Amino acid sequence: MEAPEPLSAEFFCASCRTPFQNSFPLDAAGRCALCRSGLRGFDAAYSFGAYEGVLRELIHLYKYGKIRTLAVPLSALLAQALPRDEAFDATVPVPLYWRRRLQRGFNQAELLARGLYRRTGIPVVKALGRLRPTPTPRQVSVTARAARMWPRRFARETSRGSAFC
Ligand SMILES: [Zn+2]
Repeated sequence: MEAPEPLSAEFFCASCRTPFQNSFPLDAAGRCALCRSGLRGFDAAYSFGAYEGVLRELIHLYKYGKIRTLAVPLSALLAQALPRDEAFDATVPVPLYWRRRLQRGFNQAELLARGLYRRTGIPVVKALGRLRPTPTPRQVSVTARAARMWPRRFARETSRGSAFC
């Protein structure tokens, strides 16, 4: 299997870091339409590569093939995607509903967050709980999934960011 390719794009939203093939969707300040409209529920998103090809295969083997050891190389890719000039207070792994965690045997986001901690020192904070199961995670939007969670504790707002897995 080849090594996954890092994300390559010439244009990124100045706010959320969404990649674009050209500058057309960006305004004069470099922001995408969702950021201009205030519809984004986060400050920025970083990814190593596009969800396709070898990277997609690795993620599927990790998540659905239950190959836990892939957390090590995948968290290394995640660490590469984080900007060096920003500081993060914590990584908050998205929880699994207890039944799904039992079926899978591990929470893939939590293992990635721990791997990221070993490489970057960014602490892992389990700040979210899951209210109910998500029927089919690949068919439900991020917003709908977020509505199924609740904060375990409140964090003080700082000028530094947070990361979610
Ligand atoms: Zn944006």
